[in-house]
Amino acid sequence: MSASAKEHLFALAGNPNCGKTTLFNAITGARQHVGNYPGITVEKKEGLCSLDGHTIRLVDLPGTYSLTAYSLEELVARDFLVHERPEVVINIVDASNLERNLYLTVQLLELGVPVVVALNMVDVAESRGVRIHCDELSRRLGVPVVPTVARRGEGKESLLKAAVQTSESGRKWEPLRLSYGADIDPTLQDMEQIIEEKGLLTDLYPARWTALKILEEDEQVLGKAREADPDLTQRLLSLAAKVITHIQKTLDSYPEAIIADHRYGYISGLMRQGIVEQRWRGDRLLWSDQIDRVLTNRFFGPLIMLAVLYGVYQITFTYSEIPVGWFEAAFSALGSWAESVLPEGPVRSLVISGIINGVGGVVGFVPLIFLMFLAIAFLEDTGYLARAAYMLDRVFRIFGLHGNSFMAFIISGGIAGGCAVPGVMATRTLRSSRERLATLLTAPFMNCGAKVPVLAMLIAAFFSENRAQVMFLLTLLAWIFALVLAKLLRSTILRGPSTPFLLELPPYRIPTFKGLMIHTWERIWQYVSKAGTTILAISVLLWALMAFPGLPEEKRAVFEKGRQEVVAGLPAEVRAPLLAGEDPASSDPAVIQAATALAELSRQEATEALKYSFAGRMGRALETFSRWCGFDWRTNVALVGGFAAKEVIISTLGTAYSLGQVEADQSLSLSQRLQQDPHWKPLTALAAMIFIMLYSPCFVTVTCIVKETGSWKWGLFSMAFNTTVAFVFATAVYQGGRLLGF
Ligand code: GDP
Ligand code: MG
Repeated sequence: MSASAKEHLFALAGNPNCGKTTLFNAITGARQHVGNYPGITVEKKEGLCSLDGHTIRLVDLPGTYSLTAYSLEELVARDFLVHERPEVVINIVDASNLERNLYLTVQLLELGVPVVVALNMVDVAESRGVRIHCDELSRRLGVPVVPTVARRGEGKESLLKAAVQTSESGRKWEPLRLSYGADIDPTLQDMEQIIEEKGLLTDLYPARWTALKILEEDEQVLGKAREADPDLTQRLLSLAAKVITHIQKTLDSYPEAIIADHRYGYISGLMRQGIVEQRWRGDRLLWSDQIDRVLTNRFFGPLIMLAVLYGVYQITFTYSEIPVGWFEAAFSALGSWAESVLPEGPVRSLVISGIINGVGGVVGFVPLIFLMFLAIAFLEDTGYLARAAYMLDRVFRIFGLHGNSFMAFIISGGIAGGCAVPGVMATRTLRSSRERLATLLTAPFMNCGAKVPVLAMLIAAFFSENRAQVMFLLTLLAWIFALVLAKLLRSTILRGPSTPFLLELPPYRIPTFKGLMIHTWERIWQYVSKAGTTILAISVLLWALMAFPGLPEEKRAVFEKGRQEVVAGLPAEVRAPLLAGEDPASSDPAVIQAATALAELSRQEATEALKYSFAGRMGRALETFSRWCGFDWRTNVALVGGFAAKEVIISTLGTAYSLGQVEADQSLSLSQRLQQDPHWKPLTALAAMIFIMLYSPCFVTVTCIVKETGSWKWGLFSMAFNTTVAFVFATAVYQGGRLLGF
């Protein structure tokens, strides 16, 4: 047999969604095998095909945008390339998204692996009026470029031919050498030379690549280098450290970002060399463009965005009112029923105050949250949210943030109803660590899905005339606070310049019903399952803190004596039902008066007991401060509980106010109860809403901040900083309002 009959190993690499799997299937057909990479969950697909007597083994690598060590997919792809040494890497590039896809191509070339580019989806590019000149692209990149349409199997033979030719050409591959600017190049050069001389990892990577990875502090490469030669690695690291601190000081950035910028710079240089020709504008794009001309217009864009958000509130609040009422009624009926079947005592109190009122307060808002999530899913799926990010980038820049911060804010509840936990995680897309910190510290100011019901409840109680308007206003306020405080952070402890922004606007789409439902359901489920677990547990715990220890015997005796005195002069047959809290069924004014007096005594006793409880003591201790912003100790208890999860604020207020109330009021909703409480006025509610919006993120978010920043410092900082800010603003509103006479 001739040498050409041996088995070839080729790998497919490309961004997610570039058509890799489609091409792989088109080439290998049924001759494929799916397994996992050893020990991890990343799928490994292998297949066989033949061409002119050559057998080709083809491996479909995980889709990646980059070759860093951040994700498992990237590590797997990278390891495969350096350890398995495929003869050719077929790099699939989405022609309709050329600039972004070339970022991976450039890195493959820097790694020095033999590349053949499959320029896929040329049909999509054509339909948008874009023609790419393959010859020119091939000449500039120095590798073969073959146009393909994977979906129709077009171009696969030419592609395989080019790959076989490349593998047999015996060409010596030189890694692509880019310049990374005056700050990095000299040191990189030195490091490269040292690595080359000592042969550090040169069996795996080109010396320049290893040097780059050390500058980027790539965990995996550093690990391998340390294993091979710890002293040399240390020496290289201290060389790198100088550049890192220098870049930090002068550019307020870090090598990885600068290196990425230069890669993008190289690519945008390429793009300007007549490779891409825009021949006409495709229908869909044209249509999208025309919509964009209005929706992202400098003047109309922001106005329309505000109108869209306002519409979301109108819909959410108007249409949720009735079903929210049903839920409330159902839970209060459940409460009355429990009251009628359970004997008086701690069990009844636990079931009604701890469980039904606690969980009911949260679950009751499901219709509202559902509509809010549905609206967000709609905006997301149509592509409108990306436009909003695009428009807001200009604004974000002013506040030292980045266009990509937008998603973190939206996910955290920027349109109201979200969660800061995934929001904080979403900041991973930010490349500058300061912009990232500023974003993740301020994203929790947004009105997350847990705060919305609390705010909605207060709005229903005190601003019921203008629900949507007040909610809309609170959302605007959240943004203003977040942006202004981000600016504050970025001009003090997180000072430094902004990084450039690259964002593509996807064409508008009509969302599918199924897609909307799935997105909405996922979020609703998170919310409800939290109510069923965490919130139930915390609600019961807080109930226990509020119910124990009971009033001491001598205090109870005082109330008992008071009761006896009230009924002393009454006929014996009404005494027993009166004392048991039952209706004496008498029209005698003296009896009615006595019943009222007894009710008042019970209320006082319950309040006294709550004050005496563990939670009450804590709440009262906090009154020293909270007096300034108008909160009584019951609100304090709820706010402390809210640190565990913001939803708990409602359930705790529910519990606190039902414990402190006489039995006859049991079926009132919390809104009604607060409305009737002499302590609560619209001004108090406003101060409370401001405080709730701003104070410490919940426990889970804080844990997440700690994880994402890798330090307790930022977790504690966010708790202290946010609570201070909340206190200052709530106090300002409350005291200001009082001065103005509200
Ligand atoms: P992967 O994530 O890279 O594996 O991408 P897939 O192979 O799953 O392809 C993503 C989507 O693009 C699928 O809907 C394919 O049908 C579609 N697709 C792939 N190649 C082409 C192509 O050349 N032209 C068009 N129009 N669609 C393509
Ligand atoms: Mg795939």
